[in-house]
Amino acid sequence: MNQPSVGAGWLSPSRAWRLIECPASVQPVAGNGPGAATDQEVNTGTLAHRALERWIRAEGYRAGDPKAALAEAADACAAELPGGPPSSWRVSRARLVARGMSLVDLIGQRMPAQVLSEVKLQDDDLRLRGQLDLLLLGDDIVVVDLKTQTLLDEGLPEWVQFQLTLYAHLIEKIYGDLPARVEVFSLNRGRIDVPITKETLRDARGALAMARAANPSHAKPSREACQFCARRLECEPHWEVAMRWRNTDALEGAVVRVEEATTGVAAVLLEGLAGRAWASGIPTDLIAAATPGQMLRLVRVHHVGVGADRVALWRWRRLSAGGVGTLSE
Ligand code: SF4
Repeated sequence: MNQPSVGAGWLSPSRAWRLIECPASVQPVAGNGPGAATDQEVNTGTLAHRALERWIRAEGYRAGDPKAALAEAADACAAELPGGPPSSWRVSRARLVARGMSLVDLIGQRMPAQVLSEVKLQDDDLRLRGQLDLLLLGDDIVVVDLKTQTLLDEGLPEWVQFQLTLYAHLIEKIYGDLPARVEVFSLNRGRIDVPITKETLRDARGALAMARAANPSHAKPSREACQFCARRLECEPHWEVAMRWRNTDALEGAVVRVEEATTGVAAVLLEGLAGRAWASGIPTDLIAAATPGQMLRLVRVHHVGVGADRVALWRWRRLSAGGVGTLSE
């Protein structure tokens, strides 16, 4: 019996956007494709969400010193992590604490029962459900979504606008009215107003309906869609084009030689279609079983330049991922 496609099932606003960008990206990951963000990245974003939730639930916005209360919530969440917070947390924490005070203004005189965090919202008809970071009730409904990714200073990315439009739709579905305000709370930019109109709502619903009707195996590789896709290492349509992208962050080749350092990292010489390449700084446990001739794929790696004998030089970075051995050649 055929399994229903993931695109026909329940979607969160973020997965709905992925479905629009590339229907194949929301299918289950097969094989050994470790293409998702590393634990370190997940922990930084997750920590910021946990800290904000803790602060709201403790009514820290009503404290004598709301900023100190937010710092306390952030430190308490970080202290719960075995091994401590990731190095990137220091900057995110500082931004959260500094910009969090603008939320105190937004919350205003609302009672605690009107200030809700991590609110589950669901539309059975559209099979859409999401968890909203902050929902303010009262005379006006206000929707706030925390974004921990760095947002550039020019408008808002399309995917952010789309996700917030779907949250506005969920609010209208549940409360009968569109929110009076929809905002992104960006760690690097602070509060950003997201205009929602009848037209943007109609367009978002239409785009979602079209994406659901699309062939679920249709892969639409693009640098933006593929960058953090969990299927990236195994996705052949991606590998057919990714090596030709301008400023690509993907590298594929047959292992020629592995040189291990004593520091837990290794350098690998690869033979690829574009010639030979050295990739350095790779965790040794990733390539512990690699033998000459096996295929190695790396994503989110940095092209450093060209070395002797025109060998390309690449470097593993904090968000890099890779797979070896079981990948097709
Ligand atoms: S890697 Fe790219 S093309 Fe492949 S499923 Fe993911 S988003 Fe689609």
